[in-house]
Amino acid sequence: MILSFGHSPDPELLERAKLALTEGGVDYQAVVCARSTLLIVTSDCDQISGHKFSTLPGVQKVVRLGSRTPLALEGGRTKIEVVGNGGKFVLGGEQEPVVIAGPCAVENYEQLSAVAAGARVAGALGLRGGAYKPRSSPYDFQGLGLEGLKLLKEVGMANKMPVISEVMSPEQIESAAEYIDVFQVGARNMYNYELLKELGRQRKPVVLKRGISATVDELLQAAEYILLGGNMQVILCERGIRTFEPSTRNTLDLAAVAVLKSTSNLPVIVDPSHATGKRDLIRPLSRAAIACGADGLIIESHVEPDKSYSDAGQAITPAQLGEIVQDMRLIARTLKARDSEGQVEVGIVAASALSEREQIFSGSRQS
Ligand code: PEP
Ligand code: MN
Repeated sequence: MILSFGHSPDPELLERAKLALTEGGVDYQAVVCARSTLLIVTSDCDQISGHKFSTLPGVQKVVRLGSRTPLALEGGRTKIEVVGNGGKFVLGGEQEPVVIAGPCAVENYEQLSAVAAGARVAGALGLRGGAYKPRSSPYDFQGLGLEGLKLLKEVGMANKMPVISEVMSPEQIESAAEYIDVFQVGARNMYNYELLKELGRQRKPVVLKRGISATVDELLQAAEYILLGGNMQVILCERGIRTFEPSTRNTLDLAAVAVLKSTSNLPVIVDPSHATGKRDLIRPLSRAAIACGADGLIIESHVEPDKSYSDAGQAITPAQLGEIVQDMRLIARTLKARDSEGQVEVGIVAASALSEREQIFSGSRQS
């Protein structure tokens, strides 16, 4: 059961309603969404008549839950603005898709600043980089930790790019929040409910990666943990799932992207790097991801891909990234024109996107 109090409810009425619920032995969780304040009843209330709730002071609407993920399906923000280090981009809504790029792991200042500058020229708006690395083997590079986060901040500022990095435990959140603009929950931690709950108390966007063998519904339920805590800025990320197919590192489930875009309210991005594990496959799958409606891409890049400390096989150069950004714009604009204005416009938009591409490339040759 969800009780909606509308936008900017009278605080006194809200308190009276809360008191009435508590006195009636009903547990609830208060959530402030973009358009309304909600009290979500968390105790079993199947036997209580809806009238008891709709007559509480200040209640505008009562919704009986037909779903276990009401916030992920209806309450989240469709459009999330990511701000930080003097840069800004929007994921979701009707906005053009965005590329976030950077190394798998922050290795040192020189590496990070070279990748960031290259990614920026290529058209990426956000900078990624792992400081705490969840590695399958404890003998592999585990990341620079806090030092890596400080480098992300410094390099993000120099390039005016908001930065995103993974946190693996609730204890890492507070210090990470000083340096990063978006928290990432890695695939291995999608089921880490204490981590999700703590991220629900934060007020910065969270990229939530789909677990290695998680269903779409489990991903949405994980998102629900963060949303229920009051953090409405959840971005879902399809990064491939483990299947019987060995020719790619994982299997990119683009059907899940279409399902999430049609059922949930949350922005959805795609990570073709971890999905494939192979640099030659990043471009075709990026194209496909945008064509099926993704709001953005998160891609691993390195100026010397083969020397990457981790995930070398899937790293691409900033120049290759630039090609993908151009593909993305062309595909997104063409499909948007077709969806909104019909076929006549398609040729014009495609032609103008192509001529912009030529300008960008002749521009980058000059500089
Ligand atoms: C990463 O983005 O660096 C990463 C470890 O991804 P995933 O959690 O999807 O494996
Ligand atoms: Mn990686």
